Amino acid sequence: MRDRFGRTINYMRISVTDRCNLRCRYCMPDGITKCAMQEILTYEEIVEIAQAAEDCGITRFKITGGEPLVRMGVETLVRALKDLPLTEQVTMTTNGVLLEEKLPALMEAGLDAVNISLDTTDREKYRQITGRDCLQQVLSAIRASAEAGIRTKINAVLIPGCNEDSFLPLVQMGSELPVDVRFIELMPIGEGRSGREMDNRALIDRLNTLYPGTTPDPEPRGNGPAVYYAVPGFAGRIGFISAIHGKFCDSCNRVRLTSTGFLKQCLCFEDGADLRAIVRSGEETGRRSLLTEAIRSAASNKPEAHSFDRPELITEKHRMSGIGG
Ligand code: SAM
Ligand code: SF4
Repeated sequence: MRDRFGRTINYMRISVTDRCNLRCRYCMPDGITKCAMQEILTYEEIVEIAQAAEDCGITRFKITGGEPLVRMGVETLVRALKDLPLTEQVTMTTNGVLLEEKLPALMEAGLDAVNISLDTTDREKYRQITGRDCLQQVLSAIRASAEAGIRTKINAVLIPGCNEDSFLPLVQMGSELPVDVRFIELMPIGEGRSGREMDNRALIDRLNTLYPGTTPDPEPRGNGPAVYYAVPGFAGRIGFISAIHGKFCDSCNRVRLTSTGFLKQCLCFEDGADLRAIVRSGEETGRRSLLTEAIRSAASNKPEAHSFDRPELITEKHRMSGIGG
């Protein structure tokens, strides 16, 4: 479907939990989650919403959280979404801690690709950033995932004065393994408001200086706004998602379903539609068209752009863990 600005909306991020096994500094440093289990959508409810989303032309789904792999049986959701008639793609974003043990079941269920969040390759720094000593598990999962042949990306958020020196070691992970390494600018959402983002334009300059012969790679590599570069001799690509210094709202293709069933129109604002109220009401036969109508209306009325450059206009109060990134 197209929204009122003519943008194609075909992608839904689905958060399946607001809980997590890590405590990342710019996401959920104290690990607080107030949500009771009965407030969280069941897998059946999520699938019912996804079916209605497909009626609206939304055919690509990303499972996220909190940490999606802490929710039991998430592979059954992958399978159920894959089985919907119009699904083009089901992918996941995870911190990678539980990924290696879950990988066979996820692949068996048909997962198309996985994004793994990793902000440093230094063990002590990883522990400081995430609150846990799990770096080896994550590195091992990245290798296992790439070797299993599933499309694998690493997402890193660099913060000046914290982990900016992790840029080169993270870039080098794309040298040996066929994984794309992407650098995401910190957004002023939740705990991100207290941090300072790295300017991706400076990182691109550093990449070009470190690796002469680096060239832009215009080939699309997913659903997102990343801009990619090919480094000579590298198995993977290096990508940059520059929400602050390279605003890409004019090509935004997504809506976000929170774990409590709220359909968000934009990361920056709290507006959207309460789909849980619909999916928990009335007869199933009547619900499908109500859901379709609500999704179409919310998606077509997405705001034109975020206001990260004008913090006073940001209305979203939740943390990134409650939104799904
Ligand atoms: N637990 C999963 C993970 O870590 O990939 C999925 C959810 S997590 C909220 C999704 C992504 O959002 C992570 O890559 C995380 O680094 C990123 N993130 C969290 N807060 C952010 C912020 N303020 N700005 C940009 N990215 C942020
Ligand atoms: Fe958990 Fe992901 Fe947030 Fe880290 S970024 S606390 S792994 S949800």
